[in-house]
Amino acid sequence: MSSSRDTRILVLNSGSSSVKYQLLDMSDSSRLAVGLVERIGEETSRLKHTHVESDTTREWSGPIRDHEAALKAVAEELAKDGLGLDSPELAAIGHRVVHGGQTFTAPTVVDDAVLAEIERLIPVAPLHNPANLTGIRTAQTLRPDLPQVAVFDTAFHTTMPESAARYAIDTATADAHRVRRYGFHGTSHAYVSRATAKLLGKAPEDVNVIVLHLGNGASASAVRGGRCVDTSMGLTPLEGLVMGTRSGDLDPAVIFHLARVGGMSIDEIDTLLNKKSGLIGLCGDNDMREIRRRVDEGDEEAQLAFDIYIHRLKKYIGAYYAVLGRVDAVAFTAGVGENASPVREAAVAGLEELGLAVDSELNAVRSDRPRLISPEYARVAVAVIPTDEELEIATQTYALVGRNTHQ
Ligand code: AMP
Repeated sequence: MSSSRDTRILVLNSGSSSVKYQLLDMSDSSRLAVGLVERIGEETSRLKHTHVESDTTREWSGPIRDHEAALKAVAEELAKDGLGLDSPELAAIGHRVVHGGQTFTAPTVVDDAVLAEIERLIPVAPLHNPANLTGIRTAQTLRPDLPQVAVFDTAFHTTMPESAARYAIDTATADAHRVRRYGFHGTSHAYVSRATAKLLGKAPEDVNVIVLHLGNGASASAVRGGRCVDTSMGLTPLEGLVMGTRSGDLDPAVIFHLARVGGMSIDEIDTLLNKKSGLIGLCGDNDMREIRRRVDEGDEEAQLAFDIYIHRLKKYIGAYYAVLGRVDAVAFTAGVGENASPVREAAVAGLEELGLAVDSELNAVRSDRPRLISPEYARVAVAVIPTDEELEIATQTYALVGRNTHQ
């Protein structure tokens, strides 16, 4: 592990009631500490901190009032391991920011104007951007001298052409309210598409990849030569694939119908489509492990939920195949994509004419390494790529501040 100066990056992912963090050393991309504060603002807040080198984990439960108290607690835990925020080795703090709109196409060093713009984007990301802002502001108070870098979930998708980014609605209305397709999970799609090219032994510029990020939230993207040309999430993360609790695509008139005929309020429909739909709405479970267990026992409700999930996934593979014209690889990632071999097998089944196939034996192997699961004869590689959003945020942050301070 390196001890050279200015190579550490603290990555913060601040949610409305949680803060996830990792401290990385970018001289060798190693992790020094990882942790999580949950249930901020409640009596039973919880902090879990792991010091990687000594493989020790400390857990703590009690009231943590707000994000400032949470970050102070994190700073104390890091200090106990000799990794305090006052360390001269800390080069910057990289923050996950969910919505960067059309403004932020790349990671950005935070200043007052950047904070104001992230704030201006709150109407299109009411759940996420306020928490991300709180995280940045709190980190600034702890280390005012340190560069804070915002890494946006939407940035990777800003290369989408207008034909993919715009909805076919009245242009003036769309522009007035910034209604367009932004896409999310961008750090994961960026990392996984590059890692796929690496696995194929090629430069990202030479490879076309369909990335399937299948976690509790799920999104697909079409990446041509390292640049995103389409993605399945839109104005918000609700569009696209069937997810753990989100419906993904539906006829927008379903909303009018539920309001007019079903008597539901906009907030009720919002909750229905974001929290009570997708797999959990279809069968009562959103964990793919449980759904597969039920399928294996012959549960018809779980089987139908699985079939709807796969049908949508297959439609997006076909759509993005057409968008790209030539596909070199399909990459599966995130909780479901990395672990659920039946999902990978079913998503690709019947697509042999498109050059897609999965080797059952390779598909059954469990590993946390990037790997190919397609047979040698297949024209299109099928890959499983463990995603690493924290490493990607740290890499982008370090590249930005490293240029200014180290070279
Ligand atoms: P993520 O949002 O990427 O953390 O993914 C979480 C989801 O991954 C869970 O809700 C499960 O559906 C799924 N998952 C995690 N582990 C497994 C596994 N071993 N087999 C199948 N699905 C899994």
